[in-house]
Amino acid sequence: MKLHTKMMALLVAGAMVFATGCSSSSTESTTEETTTTEESTESTEGTEATEEGTETSAATLEEGKLLMSTNATFPPYEYYDGDTIVGIDAEIAAALAEKMGVELEIADMEFESALAAVQTGQSDMVMAGVTVTEDRLENMDFTESYATGVQVVIVPEDSDITTIDDLEGKLIGVQQGTTGDIYCSDTPENGGYGEENVQKFGSGPLAVEALKNGQVDCVVIDNEPAKSYVEANEGLKILDTEFAVEDYAIGVAKGNTALLDELNAALDELEADGTLQAIVDKYIHE
Ligand code: GLN
Repeated sequence: MKLHTKMMALLVAGAMVFATGCSSSSTESTTEETTTTEESTESTEGTEATEEGTETSAATLEEGKLLMSTNATFPPYEYYDGDTIVGIDAEIAAALAEKMGVELEIADMEFESALAAVQTGQSDMVMAGVTVTEDRLENMDFTESYATGVQVVIVPEDSDITTIDDLEGKLIGVQQGTTGDIYCSDTPENGGYGEENVQKFGSGPLAVEALKNGQVDCVVIDNEPAKSYVEANEGLKILDTEFAVEDYAIGVAKGNTALLDELNAALDELEADGTLQAIVDKYIHE
């Protein structure tokens, strides 16, 4: 079964997050020299040497700041309310920055660019409902998971697609570079549907627009954004069958163990004092 294979793979990836979190100091030496950017090495050294006695981040690119890259088309995790980016990730990031005594700055860009930004030293962390996958773990480190995502299938209400098995031979819309894209574009032998059956869009809303216009037969995307897209657009529904279950975590530059540790410590505190749950409850009402 496709679904089960994927879920197993993701569970493995999930387990690896925690393993990475626990053993980061021992893996650091093997991974650091390969991908750590000059900037992040520099800023780590720079802030270690800081004479300020106040609590500042030890490992961010700009002292006193926490730069977050995201893709703000992904409600309820990140989206615009007027000119402001709000949502679960934005609020958790603000709470993390407060705990760390730094100022949060959010940069909005395409999803793939948001991932790349941490690897090229342009942002300290990516928070964009990012799923932990084995491939991504090769290029970046992840904090503990702070949320669960589920890949689901959106179809027109009158669609003849009723289960995942009906997707074969259909044109599937996805958001470029997301796990929905990666799974669906994979070969049938690997549980996918093949590149030729997948149409990639720059954002979830654009994929949904194409579905409404009949340019694609369905959209595979994360469940919470899917719910808000379906709410905002008449005539669409989400299939009951789940495509894959995933862990969301914060991505940082590979080898930036100091920042990873700080984020994990702050996440633990936010979990223990109920802040994380309160933020989720504000945006997700089951
Ligand atoms: N969770 C998906 C991924 O990590 C989609 C994230 C997004 O579109 N913001 O690929």
